[in-house]
Amino acid sequence: MDGMKKKISILGSTGSIGTQAIEVIEKMPGYFDVQALCGGDNISVLKEQIKKINPKIVCTKSEENAKLIRNEFKNIKVLFGDEGLTEVCSDKTNDMILVAVSGKIGLRPTLTAIENKIDIALANKETLVMAGDIVMKRVKEKGVSLLPVDSEHSAIHQCIKNLNEVAGLIITASGGPFRTKSVDEMLKATVEQTLAHPKWHMGKKITIDSATLMNKGLEVIEAHHLFNMPYEKINVVVHPQSIVHSAIEYIDGSVIAQLGFPSMHIPIQYALSYPKRTEGIETKSFDFIKAGRLDFEEPDYAKFPCLKLAYEAGKEGGTYPVCLNAANEEAVFAFLEGRIHLGDIYKITAKMIDEHDNISNPSIDEIFEQDKIIRHKVKSLL
Ligand code: MG
Repeated sequence: MDGMKKKISILGSTGSIGTQAIEVIEKMPGYFDVQALCGGDNISVLKEQIKKINPKIVCTKSEENAKLIRNEFKNIKVLFGDEGLTEVCSDKTNDMILVAVSGKIGLRPTLTAIENKIDIALANKETLVMAGDIVMKRVKEKGVSLLPVDSEHSAIHQCIKNLNEVAGLIITASGGPFRTKSVDEMLKATVEQTLAHPKWHMGKKITIDSATLMNKGLEVIEAHHLFNMPYEKINVVVHPQSIVHSAIEYIDGSVIAQLGFPSMHIPIQYALSYPKRTEGIETKSFDFIKAGRLDFEEPDYAKFPCLKLAYEAGKEGGTYPVCLNAANEEAVFAFLEGRIHLGDIYKITAKMIDEHDNISNPSIDEIFEQDKIIRHKVKSLL
């Protein structure tokens, strides 16, 4: 039976997606063999996971944390830092790696795994926003599968049969906590109000991005790369109930959508067990009656200018999306620390885009260099 199990490693095991992935794996005994757990700063959660999962390898952020793990778990190989992640992603015994770290740290390990012909379940947006052209080119050349974990992209992946017959993608957005609030209320919002997402419980950075709709913009760029779709054919529709997770329109006018109550367990399980479907953690079936009504409206681009900015950066290509991502992330961190207002996130990001010297077809090193330069610029601006 062991030989039948899919061997997987989890990057970012203690984060929101990582912990939910472990819940999925625990509900599917006999399906997965977890090779490595790579966790962040939450060492107590990581220890609990090690006891439950019993991986061969553990990778921590710092050498200090690696020592703590080594002292308690004598039979486990303990790695740390970027080198540790590289070693995990070079281990060809893996069938799949779940990349659920947050931020630019996901990019290099993802590329390493692709070079080693290991399939990827991708929950890290930055990887495709920063280097979508390079990543998708290598995916094709190496013949690996890259499965999206983001609920919208999972929905699209589930609906697509033949890319050549697709007329367009419809990405849904909940609209976040400020959909029905005035612009003034939104611009004055506190960190707590901004973190109170009506439909999804996620990490802090992505929750702020959901409030400004930058998250949707990043998802448009992600979808462009994943499905090789021109930006003109990717439409965002606000759907407050978050039941329709996204849809596809085919050239004959038929629209196929994927539905369900909001849950990340389903897209995580879909990516991990692809191409199979199995009974999973969500045992209750979807109920149309309970769902009741489904509303759809056009996004308010004036109120949420980050969405338009992301479209523009994506269309320009080159290092514009790198600039967008880096400037936005630094601004979000400053907002979370109470140093700027919510409205400043757009202003800072737009200013960086405005001043950016684009590099078309950048190398990975140029991408990281630009990322560093832009973050430095934002920090000195604040
Ligand atoms: Mg999403």
